[in-house]
Amino acid sequence: MNSNSPSPPAQTSGVVIVTGGSRGIGHAISTLLARRGHTVAINYATNAAPAEELAHTIMAQGGRALAIRADLSQPAQIPTLFDRAATLGPLAGLVNNAGITGTKVRIDEQTAETLDTLFNINVRATILAAGEAVRRMSIRHGGNGGVIVNLSSVAARLGGLPGLVPYAATKAAVETFTRGLANEVAHEGIRVNAVAPGLTATDMVPPETAKLAETVVPMGRVGHVDEIAQAVAFLLSPASSYMTGSVMTVSGGR
Ligand code: NAP
Repeated sequence: MNSNSPSPPAQTSGVVIVTGGSRGIGHAISTLLARRGHTVAINYATNAAPAEELAHTIMAQGGRALAIRADLSQPAQIPTLFDRAATLGPLAGLVNNAGITGTKVRIDEQTAETLDTLFNINVRATILAAGEAVRRMSIRHGGNGGVIVNLSSVAARLGGLPGLVPYAATKAAVETFTRGLANEVAHEGIRVNAVAPGLTATDMVPPETAKLAETVVPMGRVGHVDEIAQAVAFLLSPASSYMTGSVMTVSGGR
């Protein structure tokens, strides 16, 4: 980097908020980041027990973690999440992982109410949380820079499984937002990237959908949550210091 560089490459080693960080892919991300020395703010919406248990396990292993309740479909709860995470130290990263599939029905049976819920969590909360992270991490606002990683899906490019077309549309929005925000804050010490998993074994994927992997995934199997977490951890680390605005696909070739 020469002396004319507009800002240092964004790196993280401090506090990282993982939304939906106590179950599924989020659980694996929180666990791996803690192992890599991050202090992890584990957000959850409703299920306190797994979040508290994960925070306890991380701390028992010598790490630092705090479980923080915030329903991200409620905009007012997003700054509160960040305020509580700030008690752990300055924010260095945000993983926008929380997401839902919405109601699995054909498009002619979707309702405005279920679409509102879907878009409020997958898109609006992702954007609002990113805005909150920028306010705290941007060198323009006196912060130290940082990294944002958004969870997309291969559905963004494939159009989604039958009944999950609106879900796919939310993830396309996440990818476009990732690219745009990366441009907007590139001079402020903040990198923004996305990970697009394929079919991954979590509560989000029922057994009959997981079985599909044998035929639709070139590698013939679902992904493991740790395989997605590795990509997120890479994007949060200095190893990806020249990456911003990228979408990393982790899908067994799908
Ligand atoms: P999951 O096992 O169903 O877990 C979803 C997580 O999101 C939970 O921790 C949940 O918290 C949290 N969440 C849901 N609504 C929330 C809200 N209103 N406020 C705060 N947190 C909320 O899902 P997953 O499979 O791990 O998926 C994680 C991300 O990867 C999602 O963005 C998903 O779209 C994406 N993805 C998954 C797959 C896959 O095959 N699994 C593929 C591509 C992309 P609670 O425990 O409190 O409910």
